[in-house]
Amino acid sequence: MAADDRNAFEVYRDRVDRPLVRLFREYGAAEAHWLVIGMIANVIARIAGLLPPVVLGVAIDAVFTGDGPYSLPIVPDAWLPTTDPAQFQLSVVLILGAFVVTGVFTFIYGIAANNFAHRVMHAVRTDSFDLMQRLDMTFFDDKQTGEVMSVLNNDASNLEVFLDNALQNTARLGVMVLGIAGVLFYYNHELAVVTLSAIPLMFLFTLWFMRAVEPRYVEQRAIVGDLNTVLENALSGVELVKTSNTESHESERVETASRNYFERTMDILRLNYVYRPGMELLAGLAFAATFLVGGYWLAQGPPGPFTTELTVGTFVTFILLTQQFVAPLAEVSNIVDQYENAKASSERVFGLRDIPVRITDREDAVVLGGGDGHRGGRNGDRSSGNGDRGVDGEVVYDDVSFAYAENALVDPADADEVVVRNVSFAADPGDTVALVGPTGAGKSTLLKLLARLYDVTDGEIRVDGHDVRDVTVASLRSSIGYVSQDTTLFDGTIAENIRYGRFTGARVDADERPADDAVRDRVVEAAKAAEAHEFIDSLPNGYDTRIGERGVKLSGGQRQRVAIARVVLQDPAILVLDEATSAVDTETEMLIQRSLDRLAADRTTFVIAHRLSTVTDADTTLVLEDGEVVERGTHDELIEADGLYAKLWGVQAGEIEDLPEEFVERARARHVQRGVEGVVEGTVERETLDE
Ligand code: ADP
Repeated sequence: MAADDRNAFEVYRDRVDRPLVRLFREYGAAEAHWLVIGMIANVIARIAGLLPPVVLGVAIDAVFTGDGPYSLPIVPDAWLPTTDPAQFQLSVVLILGAFVVTGVFTFIYGIAANNFAHRVMHAVRTDSFDLMQRLDMTFFDDKQTGEVMSVLNNDASNLEVFLDNALQNTARLGVMVLGIAGVLFYYNHELAVVTLSAIPLMFLFTLWFMRAVEPRYVEQRAIVGDLNTVLENALSGVELVKTSNTESHESERVETASRNYFERTMDILRLNYVYRPGMELLAGLAFAATFLVGGYWLAQGPPGPFTTELTVGTFVTFILLTQQFVAPLAEVSNIVDQYENAKASSERVFGLRDIPVRITDREDAVVLGGGDGHRGGRNGDRSSGNGDRGVDGEVVYDDVSFAYAENALVDPADADEVVVRNVSFAADPGDTVALVGPTGAGKSTLLKLLARLYDVTDGEIRVDGHDVRDVTVASLRSSIGYVSQDTTLFDGTIAENIRYGRFTGARVDADERPADDAVRDRVVEAAKAAEAHEFIDSLPNGYDTRIGERGVKLSGGQRQRVAIARVVLQDPAILVLDEATSAVDTETEMLIQRSLDRLAADRTTFVIAHRLSTVTDADTTLVLEDGEVVERGTHDELIEADGLYAKLWGVQAGEIEDLPEEFVERARARHVQRGVEGVVEGTVERETLDE
């Protein structure tokens, strides 16, 4: 039931209504005081800026040409001096005062406007990240990390620019246009009509520009997301790119995305090339018309239909104020620019925020094990034995079925790509359950359901008798340790990576956090149990050695042992091992195996086994094929039964040359069905044999 082929992000983005209004309501309100202070200071500064041309005009008429009285708008004439020298001095003081006021209030406005914009940006960014983290795996399966990066970076800064520059420039523009128009009308409404006749033209021109530019901005924003996604994929998959010699393919993809972006941007800029000079031309026309008509007026008296007197002072005021017009009006294209960007950006911010989070705690969710989910209970001290373990680790799958939703838009209940069918089994605390079967059989999916990375479509999974949907997600996940074949290490030191999850995160109350030394002791203890202590100790800075992004400076075997140490420290009741297929040398393999055996010893353990020889001791082995359990039992029982397991065992032990033809066919069909790119004959067979 595919709604359409857009991803969830795009769909929710399009549904956002009046994004900037929402931005102000949801983020602006809390910082509104900064905005108000900024606006008021801005308006005062601008009004003060209008004063010098007015005072200059009045002084010229009263002091120098004697054409008019010394009178100022608003101020009663009785307050003003009557002698020329006093009027001149007052004019100088007023002009100077106006500049001081402009300076002081510009300073205040700068601080307030910056505070407003940056505080909102900070809130938007941190909030979006929090929300993004809570989204279900289905969202991330859609590979939208590029888009998310773009929300957290580009969009947040677009909003900042808008809230700072655009808002304040709009206020400035409003004050200037209204203020200047007011003053001009006050002094000579007839000449004012000449000067301001350009305003309606500018308005229409701006309207045309906005209409033309808006759809282009929408396109441009979408393309930024595409570009980010391409870059992100190429960078995170750099190893695959190199090993498959697809650098030129990736370069082409980046070239295409970047060219698209370039072309859209040029589209927008072309409009700007017309708009900006056009506005300046119109402003120039207003200036020239004022100069022409005003000059003629002074020399020959009121031209044409005009009847009022024009003095030299008023003429100077007009010329100076008309010039002040030009700068803020030329900003209009920037304001439009920033406004369009901000609108698109806040649509994306709220699009992300509106995506429903399906996997969350029920209102009456209980804490699994009653404690913090760690076996060690509140004290978290392993040496205290198992007496106070919070979670026993009894796991029951009861007729579980699951289908992947095509994307985050599809209600999981409507998903039709069934990959797990009616799976039932029970594991007692401490049991080891091995999952075997061909690639794509559903082994990993089955265990992702246990940690509620996805929710079952049918049936239920119980841990210690609780449906996993009835316990808090945090307590469930912290009672499950996960060691995968693709180990993620964060940028940071080895020690930080080992304590990640156990002594990092909100779950750990500050007052429960042991002293640094105690943590270090336990980190070392965990590393020893993971057979990692020796190699860590031999590194230049031992446990404080930084490992690069994704831990590129460690070997695969070393990374895996760091990951195992992390789980040892986590001390979960349930362990999920996604066994490594990547070849490590025999000695490393032995070390890893030994540490895993130790780790698994008294926990309920699920092993996704690729080599059957590592799980012959499992209490139960489930053989999966196409999402169904086709065989189950101990190693001996399964060999006895002489089914799929026995065949796989034979292949891996080198007894059978080839897999049955129908088996290879099925695996190949599955690959084709999934549209996996670049699967060549040999790969299918090799992968299948790996199992
Ligand atoms: P296994 O671990 O046995 O190799 P998986 O559980 O990874 O199998 O996959 C089972 C099936 O589910 C496969 O057909 C796979 O293509 C599909 N699948 C796995 N992950 C996803 C996902 N995130 N979205 C959609 N389909 C998926």
